[in-house]
Amino acid sequence: MTTYLFPPPPVASLPVRGKTEHFPVNRLFFVGRNYHAHAVEMGKPVDKSVERPFYFTKAPQTLTLSGATTPYPSETANYHFEMELVLAIGKPGFRVKADDAHEIIYGYAAGLDMTRRDLQLVARDKGRPWDLGKDVEHSSVCSEIVPMPGVVIEHGAIQLSVNGAVKQQSDVDKLIWNIREIIADLSLFYHLQPGDLIYTGTPEGVGAVQPGDRIAGSVEGVGGVELTVGPEA
Ligand code: MN
Repeated sequence: MTTYLFPPPPVASLPVRGKTEHFPVNRLFFVGRNYHAHAVEMGKPVDKSVERPFYFTKAPQTLTLSGATTPYPSETANYHFEMELVLAIGKPGFRVKADDAHEIIYGYAAGLDMTRRDLQLVARDKGRPWDLGKDVEHSSVCSEIVPMPGVVIEHGAIQLSVNGAVKQQSDVDKLIWNIREIIADLSLFYHLQPGDLIYTGTPEGVGAVQPGDRIAGSVEGVGGVELTVGPEA
């Protein structure tokens, strides 16, 4: 039996609606610019006819369960919310055909891709990696997983409010690359595994939060996600 010099980090996991077992989280993938109106507000419109989706990853250690209060992060003056539908993978998949994509879906969740927008944009415009902007401690907020094996979500309202004021309001039917297309494309690059989560992108209306702000988002048919932003720590 392996022994360790110090306690290894715990396995990241999420509760599952209706089950006592948790969903053990493997990798966190994020689709960039996957709603036209958000791509436009970022100054980078997408032409699906000539472009492919792109991705970034965050460490599983950034996973934060919905309902938490997390510290305002260091080294930013523009900490943004991004409301997203999260896809939970339940079976292995490599080079999955779009028509077969439903076979590896375990379920869904509602998530927040919290972002140091100032640092992300500097990195983007200088051609540097996005890690300091995106791989922020506590920034991958996620609800419980809702088991919906084999179900492909094609529409449903997605919205987010801050302190009760609606900031983001769209529909999952506006995804540029839909659930089947994301699985087919991402699985060309990665052997998808049970426990992988895919944050599918954010609609327009992203904006900054301040310490004390309370974020509440939801995806119709899936559920809600909440986060309170605490003081810098
Ligand atoms: Mn995002």
